[in-house]
Amino acid sequence: MRLYMFEAGVLKSQKQYFTLNQGYGDTFDVPVPFFLIDHPKGKVLFDTGNALEVVNNKEEHWGGVLAAYDPVMTEEQWCVNAIKKVGVEPEDISYVILSHLHLDHAGGVGHFPNARYVVQRDEMHFAYVPDSYMKGAYIRKDFDKDVDWMILEGWEQDRFDLFGDGSIEIWFTPGHTPGHQSILVNLPNSGPMFFAADACYTKSNLEDGVLPGLMWSAGETVKSVERMRYLQEARGVKVVTGHDPESWKSVKQAPEYYD
Ligand SMILES: [Zn+2]
Repeated sequence: MRLYMFEAGVLKSQKQYFTLNQGYGDTFDVPVPFFLIDHPKGKVLFDTGNALEVVNNKEEHWGGVLAAYDPVMTEEQWCVNAIKKVGVEPEDISYVILSHLHLDHAGGVGHFPNARYVVQRDEMHFAYVPDSYMKGAYIRKDFDKDVDWMILEGWEQDRFDLFGDGSIEIWFTPGHTPGHQSILVNLPNSGPMFFAADACYTKSNLEDGVLPGLMWSAGETVKSVERMRYLQEARGVKVVTGHDPESWKSVKQAPEYYD
C-alpha cells in the first residue's frame, strides 16, 4: 500500500478565517491538499481539490467567495492530471472519499468514471440547501452530478472500514460542516496517519484549542478535534491537518510516498 500527498494549488486568504478572532487581515496562503491511496484492492482518492475551472475562469466559477479565498492552481495541479504523474489514470480510481462538498474539496467529482463517491448523507443535504453563511462555499455544479454515490449515515457508520481489512477507516467528524468525514490510514511501515481535512485546519486548531474561523457548529468541531488529539497523544497517530502552510512543508509530496 502506498499513500501519495498532492497539492491542488493554494488559497490566498487571511488568518482570521482559519483561527477565530486571531490575525485579522494577516495574509495566510494555505495549501489545498488531496491524497491518493494505492491499496491492493483498489485505488482511493481522499478529496479532489479545486475544479479545473479555477485555472482560467475562477471569477465566474467561484464568484464572491474569491474575496476570502482566492485559488491559484495550474492545470497540472488539477487532481485528474496530478495523479497521472504517479502512473494512475482517472479510470483506475475505485473510490473517491469526499471529506465534505466545499469547493476546494469536491472539484474532481464526475471525472473518475469507475469510482464510487463516498459522502455523508448530512453533507449531501446541507450542500444543496446550505445556511446563508456557507452558501458561497458550495458550488452546486461541482457536485450535482449523476455519479455512483455511496452514502454513509453519520455516527451509525462511524469508522467505516472501506476494504474490511482495517487499512482505511472513514471517521465521522462533523463540525466544520454537518457531514464532514476524515480518514484513518494504517500504513504498514509509516504507521497510522489520520487525514483530518477541514475538521482541523492547522496545528494550532489541533494543539492549542484555537477554533477555526468558519464552522457550522463550534461544539461539534471541538468534539471532533478532541478525537484527533486522543489519537495523536494516546495512540501515536500522525494527524495531517487540512490547510496548514507550515505543517504541509514537512510532509513528503508526490511522487514521493508513504508506505
Ligand atoms: Zn478546505
